[in-house]
Amino acid sequence: MKLAARVHQITPSQTLEISAQAKEMKAEGIDVCSLSAGEPDFGTPAHITAAAQRALDEGKTKYGAVQGELELREAIARRARTKNHLDYSAENVIVTNGGKHSLFNLMLALIEPRDEVIIPAPYWVSYPEMVKLAGGKEVIVKTEAARGYKITPEQLRAAITPHTKLFIFNSPSNPTGAVYTLDEIGAIAEVIVEKDLLVVADEIYENLLYDGAEHVSIGSLNQEIFQRTILSNGFAKSYSMTGWRIGYIAGAVELIKGITKIQSHSTSNVCTFAQYGAIAALESSQDCIKEMLQAFCYRRQVMLSRIDAIPKVSCPKPYGAFYLFVDISATGLKSQEFCQTLLKEQKVSAIPGIAFGADECIRLSYATDMTTIEKGMTRLKQFINSLI
Ligand code: GLU
Repeated sequence: MKLAARVHQITPSQTLEISAQAKEMKAEGIDVCSLSAGEPDFGTPAHITAAAQRALDEGKTKYGAVQGELELREAIARRARTKNHLDYSAENVIVTNGGKHSLFNLMLALIEPRDEVIIPAPYWVSYPEMVKLAGGKEVIVKTEAARGYKITPEQLRAAITPHTKLFIFNSPSNPTGAVYTLDEIGAIAEVIVEKDLLVVADEIYENLLYDGAEHVSIGSLNQEIFQRTILSNGFAKSYSMTGWRIGYIAGAVELIKGITKIQSHSTSNVCTFAQYGAIAALESSQDCIKEMLQAFCYRRQVMLSRIDAIPKVSCPKPYGAFYLFVDISATGLKSQEFCQTLLKEQKVSAIPGIAFGADECIRLSYATDMTTIEKGMTRLKQFINSLI
C-alpha cells in the first residue's frame, strides 16, 4: 500500500512509544523503573471523577457543541482572566481532545505551505511533526544549557524570515523545565510585536513551578502582544487527567471559529460527560494541585541530588514541569543508544534527547513514585559509572 508522503515525513512520538514499552514490560512482570512518562502517577482527584460520574448519571452522553460545553468555556475564560490576565470570554475558547489536539488544530488552521514556524530546541517532541503535518516548515533554534535552555531575543530575531508566521513558546518547558522570567518574556514579546508574528503559548505546565518561580502568560503583557497570542493549555498535567483528553485553545474569535470548523469535520465535541469533570476541576478548590506539587517538589530535589552525585553528568536546575534534562555526552553515547542500553541492561526507561532535538541529552521524569525514583537513579548511576 502506498501511504501518503506525510506519513514518511514524521516519526512516531517517542514519549508515548517508550512510555508504552515500559508499561508493557511491567505488565510482563519485568522490574522496570519508568522515568520516561510525562504523566503524574496520582489518580484524578475524587471530586473531579465524581462530577463526571454525575454527568453520566444525568444522561450527559449525547453530542455536544463542537466548540465545547458553554459552562466549561465560561469557566476556562474566567480562569484565563483571573489567573493569566488574558481578556477572553467563552467565544474565544474551544475545548479540544487534549493540549496536543489544540496545537495540532492550530497548525491546521494557520499554517500554509512555505509558512515557517520557529521552535526553540530542546522542544516538545510533537511540535515539529505537527508543523510538518500541516505542510509548514519548522525552523529550529538551538538554545544552550548554559543559558538554561532559553531562547534569547537575538536568536529569535535572527531566525525570522519573510515567511515566518508563528513562534512556539513553551514556559514552563517540556523537556528542560526552563521557566522564563517576566523580563525575558518581555524581550521576546517585543520582537514578536515588532516583526508582527503570532505566538502560541503552550502553558500546560503553568501550575508546576518550584523555588519561587512565577508563571507569566506572554499575552498578558500588553494589548499588542495579546492580539498576537494564542493560548494552549489543558487539564492533564495540573489535575492528573492525562487519559481524559481535555485541552483548550484560546484566541481571536476568527481563529476559534476556523478551528471549530476544522474540528467539526474531525473529532466533533470532546466526550460530553468528561467536560463536566473539567468544570469541577476549575470551579472547585485548587488544593489538589498544591498537594501534587508538594510531592513533585520533593521528588525533584531528590532526583537533582542524585544527578549531582554522578560525575561528569549534569543538568540545569529546572524551575517548572516535572523533568530533568540531563547531558550525557561524557558517556560517549548518543541519546538513543544510551536509552536503549539503559533499558536493556538496567531496566530503566528514559527518553532520548534526540526526540527533543538534543542528542547529547536524555529526559528523566519525576512524575512517578519515590521508590521508582530511588531505584531508577541508583541503576542509572551504575550504568553511567560503567561507561565512564
Ligand atoms: N507530554 C507528555 C510527555 O512529554 C506525554 C506524552 C506526549 O503526549 O508526548 O511525556
